Amino acid sequence: MPTTALPDAAPAVRPLQDRFGRVHTDLRVSLTDRCNLRCTYCMPEEGPGWLPRPELLTDDEVVRLVRIGAQRLGIRTVRLTGGEPLLRRGLPGLVARLAAPADAPELSLTTNGVGLARSAAALREAGLRRVNVSLDTLRRDRYRELTRRDRLADVLLGLAAARAAGLAPVKVNAVPVRGVNEDEIPELAAFAVEHGYRMRFIESMPLDAQGAWQRERMVTADEILERLAGRFALEPVPRAGSAPAEEWRVLGTDAVVGVIASVTRPFCGGCDRVRLTADGQLRNCLFATAESDLRALLRGGADDAAIEDAWRTAVAGKGPGHGIGSASFRRPDRPMSAIGG
Ligand code: SAM
Ligand code: SF4
Repeated sequence: MPTTALPDAAPAVRPLQDRFGRVHTDLRVSLTDRCNLRCTYCMPEEGPGWLPRPELLTDDEVVRLVRIGAQRLGIRTVRLTGGEPLLRRGLPGLVARLAAPADAPELSLTTNGVGLARSAAALREAGLRRVNVSLDTLRRDRYRELTRRDRLADVLLGLAAARAAGLAPVKVNAVPVRGVNEDEIPELAAFAVEHGYRMRFIESMPLDAQGAWQRERMVTADEILERLAGRFALEPVPRAGSAPAEEWRVLGTDAVVGVIASVTRPFCGGCDRVRLTADGQLRNCLFATAESDLRALLRGGADDAAIEDAWRTAVAGKGPGHGIGSASFRRPDRPMSAIGG
């Protein structure tokens, strides 16, 4: 009797678990290491040297890796970042491809907001769900000094466009630095409360490209909270799962403010993240000093199962925590802008 060939069965999803039992469901994908700002806590004034374009993953390669992550490894959320991800040409088209499968992960974006006014609606239409916009000051002169570019007005328009496009929630991320903008913590929170954005303050980390981070200039979570408590009545919100932000409700409003205390209160024990750099290197931690070269596998003709294996091996080797502050801590060779924050 003739037999009819059946299509290959869909691969089973097996959770991406490390040796400490942490299950990884969140993927950060850097789409470029380039940026149109030069935030002083992130990059030097000139450069740094950019990745050569042929080394960047193509859209097809990004789509394939995200599909493997979703279908085989249980990745449920994908955050697009950089460098500045809005500089990636054809971004709405890439978002539409990533969002198309029925089992697509939820897509969000971290951006400096400079180009958001002209792209927010197209990104929402393409399937982007949420956005985080970095904004460290509301003062034009200070913004120009801090980012070395005069683009505050564009960012404010970008935030409004994101909200109008239905990207929700719109989160605003600020990195307070001592002697630079820590006095604006209450004003930034008040701005977010007024506009319906969700404010989050992030402790600065030793991940700047120029290696100039100093612990004394980091504004700690305790100090951030002290400044917020001077202006608002706050009530702690129970922490959700592996979320990095500790959150507080601003009493008398619908607003919530968050603090991401990566340095003083590390949340590595609940980490569920893996990261893919723009040149296709898988990192099991922001602070990892080793990477797995998925681009070489992709371009060498590896099948999905081989890429899945390499991905699992990389996660299996993840350490218990970043150890900032311990004698053995070593900064990663790549800065934040080239890893994807
Ligand atoms: N360009 C986009 C932006 O600024 O949102 C995306 C990439 S940026 C590297 C991602 C996040 O990392 C931003 O919120 C930025 O403020 C944060 N960041 C950059 N350098 C940092 C550092 N040294 N410590 C803590 N956060 C940092
Ligand atoms: Fe660019 Fe974002 Fe780094 Fe600022 S923090 S220089 S916007 S990558």
